Amino acid sequence: MVRRTAAIRGESLGSVTARGGDWRYSRLFEVKAMSQLTTRPQLAHLTASLDELRAKGTYFKLRILDDQQAPICHYDGRKVINLASNNYLGLANDPRLIEAALAATRKFGVGSGAVRTIAGTMRIHMDLEEKIARFKNVEACVVFQSGFTANAGAVSSILGKDDFILSDELNHASIIDGARLSRAKIKVFRHKDAAHCEELLKEIANEPGHKLVITDGVFSMDGDIGIVDKLAALAEKYGAIMMVDDAHASGVLGRNGRGSVDHFGLHGKVDVQVGTLSKAIGCLGGYVCGSRDLIDYLYHRARPFLFSTSHPPAVAAACMAAIDILEAEPERIERLWSNARYFQGELKRAGFNVGGVTTPASETPITPIIIGDGRATMEFSRALFDEGVMGTGIAFPTVPEGNARVRLILTSEHTKAQLDQALETLERVAKRMGILEPARKE
Ligand code: PMP
Repeated sequence: MVRRTAAIRGESLGSVTARGGDWRYSRLFEVKAMSQLTTRPQLAHLTASLDELRAKGTYFKLRILDDQQAPICHYDGRKVINLASNNYLGLANDPRLIEAALAATRKFGVGSGAVRTIAGTMRIHMDLEEKIARFKNVEACVVFQSGFTANAGAVSSILGKDDFILSDELNHASIIDGARLSRAKIKVFRHKDAAHCEELLKEIANEPGHKLVITDGVFSMDGDIGIVDKLAALAEKYGAIMMVDDAHASGVLGRNGRGSVDHFGLHGKVDVQVGTLSKAIGCLGGYVCGSRDLIDYLYHRARPFLFSTSHPPAVAAACMAAIDILEAEPERIERLWSNARYFQGELKRAGFNVGGVTTPASETPITPIIIGDGRATMEFSRALFDEGVMGTGIAFPTVPEGNARVRLILTSEHTKAQLDQALETLERVAKRMGILEPARKE
């Protein structure tokens, strides 16, 4: 069957693959043929823009994980200490989640077969939504295919062209895209600057449109915590809707990882809470929590919900198992924070800029090592990889120009020995490359 498919693929490309019928060979050939398409003049501007990235030293190749998303794993065939994933609590390969996924697959199949509103709402999807709603202490919840679609789908459907969105300048891309899709007027306030947000709210106080104040609960690139409390108070004062994106706060902040609303004691004061199932929860997906009417409205109007197929049952089952673990094993979150405190303390002691100088200071397990220059950052990341430490280099446009960094993320599953080894490598490579002071003086 596979051989036949390969032969058909080969034929359609007019290739030699039909000769051998080896599908691996045909795949190689197919990739080659596809890459040749980019030399067509219609796409020459894409090639030019990639050439620009190469010239700036920020072009990257995807690193390929050969085994599980674990503290020690193999990328591109090299054994590394993995400090790059969002698998905060080690749940991505927890045996209980794996078993739950397998059991659900055997019972309910691999696919849901349709979008939620047509025929793709399975009992297990409803069970997951109820479980998250109870966990977050809200009336209701809707699960989306990802955190990205949860943000973009919610913002774009809650607001319309006569409305206003007041958004922190460092909010996630999915919020920005959702805001653009809504066609609401976008007012960006300076990062975590409540006074600036209030100024903007005052300016539009007499406008008839709805207003939405939105912040990340934890900012993904710097690891600082959003001023959810101050913004919620402003939203209350000016009659605005309050929304928070807890992608990096879910499973990390608040009791048992309930997120920033719980962390700040703001239950009932935040109208729209978004979270992700793709990071600490270890699987895939996003959700919006709030009132029953908010969720019913999103069932009727959020476009990713209406127009894109729902999760496979395995994902829903694994997510439910993860929430049980959050409830039962808070010690995982304690281990995560203790690893983060230890690691960040040691980095500071070694003289690294881990934020707090020209960029916000991290308050969570997200650990940026600020380098500044994009090329130097990518070179540092590659050198670390060669020495057995996986830390992703992040440059413009993901972070502002001049603020490139290697971003490291701790998990509850890293051992002290692994962290010490990573610290030794970081310090040695940074000195060699002139990123840390002592080497510059030599
Ligand atoms: N919001 C923030 C702040 C994020 O960092 C991310 C993930 N990069 C998302 C939303 C999107 O989440 P997901 O990966 O589940 O789509």
